[in-house]
Amino acid sequence: MAKTYSIAIDGPAGAGKSTIARRLAKELGYYYVDTGAIYRTVAYFMDLLGISPKDVDGVERYIDELTIEIEYDEDGVQHMIMNGMDVSGDIRTQDISQKASLVSAHAVVREVLLDMQRAVARKHNVIMDGRDIGTVVLPNADVKIFLTADPEVRAKRRYDELIAKGQKANLPTILKEIQQRDYQDSHREIAPLKQAKDAVKVDTSALDIEGVVTAIRDIVGKKIGL
Ligand code: C5P
Repeated sequence: MAKTYSIAIDGPAGAGKSTIARRLAKELGYYYVDTGAIYRTVAYFMDLLGISPKDVDGVERYIDELTIEIEYDEDGVQHMIMNGMDVSGDIRTQDISQKASLVSAHAVVREVLLDMQRAVARKHNVIMDGRDIGTVVLPNADVKIFLTADPEVRAKRRYDELIAKGQKANLPTILKEIQQRDYQDSHREIAPLKQAKDAVKVDTSALDIEGVVTAIRDIVGKKIGL
């Protein structure tokens, strides 16, 4: 089989991972894999069943009832299919963000999802974003980037996004949720959020989207050529 290339982008919520990864994937003709969406789908499924994301026994009991498929439409947009149903819109709430962060701490969940993520990278050139891509999922990725930004900046970006969509938003609440998720994601025992030793760190606090895209295109270009 021909070699496939992989680019791992890790970092905390709101650092700009998905925006950048989607843009770059389009430019390079790679698959963009948003791994957070897979954890969100597990959280959504458990939520529908009334299982608390903290209830490891409940999660373990029902995880086999869940089939997840990742599909791409003609624009390359990723869709999450949960037991045959497209739940891509349903998983994008603040409530599911928090529940995904809790459910993702369980070993049984991470194991099931690990195989799924590696299977995509074996078949396709990928840009994969998440928390543990460079450290656990694809330790041999061709390029590893750790994208970060100050929590206040990340909260403000999220706030602006919600306001632009005409939704209600409260900046202090968003900041608190982001900090809570950062803490949970970086303090869990298995595959915590952390920078891989060989990852290049990019702090996006003072950069706009174009600035980040340029910085990352540069890093990718140096490693694998564009
Ligand atoms: O990236 P996103 O905000 O959609 O991720 C939702 C949650 O899924 C994160 O807070 C994190 O707990 C979990 N996650 C993970 N490992 C990944 C991607 C996401 O644990 N590779």
